[in-house]
Amino acid sequence: MNETKRIIVIGGSAAGPKAASRARRMDENAEVTIFQKVSDLSMASCGYPYYIGGVFDDRDQLLCSPAGVVRDSKFFWNAKKITTRVNTEVTSIDRKKKRIEFKDVLSGLIGNAEYDKLIIATGSTPRKPQVPGIELEGVTTLQSLPDADYLRKVGDDGKIKKAVVIGGGLIGIETCEALHLAGIEITLIELLPQLLTFLDRQMASLVQKYVQSKANVILENGVTAFLGENGKLTAVKLQNGTEIPCELAVVAIGVIPNSKLANEAGLAISRSGGIVVNEYMQTADPDIYAVGDCIEIPNLITGNNVHAPYGDLANLEGRVAGENVILGNSAKFPGTIQTGICKVFDYGVGATGLSEQNAIKTGFSNIETVVNSSLDKPSFMQGKLLITKLVVNKDNGLILGAQVIGPGDVSKQVAIWAMAIKGKLTVNDMVNADLPYAPPYSLAIDHSIATAHIMQNKLNGYFAGISSEQLMAKLKQKMKPIVLLDVRNPEEFEQIRLGIGEKLIPLGQLRRRMEELPADKNTEIITWCKISLRGYEAALILKANGYKNVYVLEGGIMAWPYEREK
Ligand SMILES: Cc1cc2nc3c(=O)[nH]c(=O)nc-3n(C[C@H](O)[C@H](O)[C@H](O)COP(=O)(O)OP(=O)(O)OC[C@H]3O[C@@H](n4cnc5c(N)ncnc54)[C@H](O)[C@@H]3O)c2cc1C
Repeated sequence: MNETKRIIVIGGSAAGPKAASRARRMDENAEVTIFQKVSDLSMASCGYPYYIGGVFDDRDQLLCSPAGVVRDSKFFWNAKKITTRVNTEVTSIDRKKKRIEFKDVLSGLIGNAEYDKLIIATGSTPRKPQVPGIELEGVTTLQSLPDADYLRKVGDDGKIKKAVVIGGGLIGIETCEALHLAGIEITLIELLPQLLTFLDRQMASLVQKYVQSKANVILENGVTAFLGENGKLTAVKLQNGTEIPCELAVVAIGVIPNSKLANEAGLAISRSGGIVVNEYMQTADPDIYAVGDCIEIPNLITGNNVHAPYGDLANLEGRVAGENVILGNSAKFPGTIQTGICKVFDYGVGATGLSEQNAIKTGFSNIETVVNSSLDKPSFMQGKLLITKLVVNKDNGLILGAQVIGPGDVSKQVAIWAMAIKGKLTVNDMVNADLPYAPPYSLAIDHSIATAHIMQNKLNGYFAGISSEQLMAKLKQKMKPIVLLDVRNPEEFEQIRLGIGEKLIPLGQLRRRMEELPADKNTEIITWCKISLRGYEAALILKANGYKNVYVLEGGIMAWPYEREK
């Protein structure tokens, strides 16, 4: 008869419980135990910003199963026959004896337990700036449930009026929204020249423009000190000397993998600090697996290892390790294409694969990009704007990355591109994609397919585009005269316009007003409209009339990240 397998899981939030549950499903008789340092289990940390912002009030929902039952120790035992030891920190791993040592954090009592297979799912810890005043009351991170409780109470009490959020990444921006919803005035500080570094500059600038309508954004400035009185935060001091008065500061400058236990046990740790695992989620010790925020995994496009602290990946990795500890190495998790999304007030902001910046950084030398703006569904169905930047490998048309922003259905678009990248699809595969269509859900040609059409036209030489950034650079250089041509209607022009010296000739009048343009057919002409569909048609008319240097401003006015006249 087979002996009962003893599975120990260290960490009881996302990856750990998933691994434990999968192990149980693979073997009803295994002895599965989760050790969890804190008092709660299976916390939905991705939901904290929405709890803080008052989107929902029942805190238990952060801990519930889909059936609405709080996932406490009783639930884990009754529903899954998994033993959970909460408030219990694993302090060391003895690989020779296949034994862990643990400490009850409430009583201080120490104990040990033996394993046949061990899964490390210890997560990550927020990075903190090493500056004076970091310990002041009012300086916090948003990582744990107590952090979320604290920030929710701040909102409920309504006493704090001003806060500073440090870090313009996903969590920083989500925190901004949460505190804004709680009625707090926010200043967002970012050390780099842009928010959300997974986006290219133009896309990040569009997001920034939108965030600035809700919060004060300061770029290229770091924190040098938290200032306080009587132990309480009163201001944040920046590198340029500015002091921003505030009673609350939330530090969101990234996370560091919790790999100390593994390191002390002699397991390999990568340069980024993540535990090194293979595609089975197994460390160099065949009896020890590791999953979630504490590991490093390959980026499937570049082949480089990355730290990818995402909740979906933590669960997928946990599922693989849970199966493998029971069945042997049968399941694989090959890596990530780093797909992510966040809500920025009424905007969705998402990306998958490589941005142009990252593609260049990782050695792709022959890439093409395109920016497309359109509604996500017909205007008679209250369609909302989407702006996509697509990045492809010019050598073979392979899709490398997509960034999508706007109030429209960003999640669907990012999901489409993520599957295209995972499936190694090319632009030509995407131009005839058979996606579902009915007016409540999309345009007849879905935004993603239209983006692929523009890219195909560009690769085939039917469409010559220019990005906002390229046009801005040209305008700054003032090398030679350019005709800037807005082809919308006069009413649209009165409502909103770039104000960069453009001429207005509505598309319908262009053929008969051709003589208003310079006679020299080599003159550079840039055309646009609201989203640049009419701009594209205008460019074709101009080309048919002999103009040789005609470019369409990609994405039109909607994708213009700079100041406009109106
Ligand atoms: C505010 C916020 C919003 C987020 N939003 C998103 C999102 O929208 N989408 C997304 O994909 N991801 C999001 N994430 C990231 C996601 O939550 C994490 O990637 C995920 O929780 C990682 O799971 P994990 O199990 O590896 O680590 P964790 O969830 O950090 O869990 C690790 C657990 O291990 C315990 N532990 C650590 N050391 C020990 C020890 N020695 N002994 C016992 N227990 C130990 C810790 O107490 C912790 O409970 C968000 C994260 C935060 C904080």
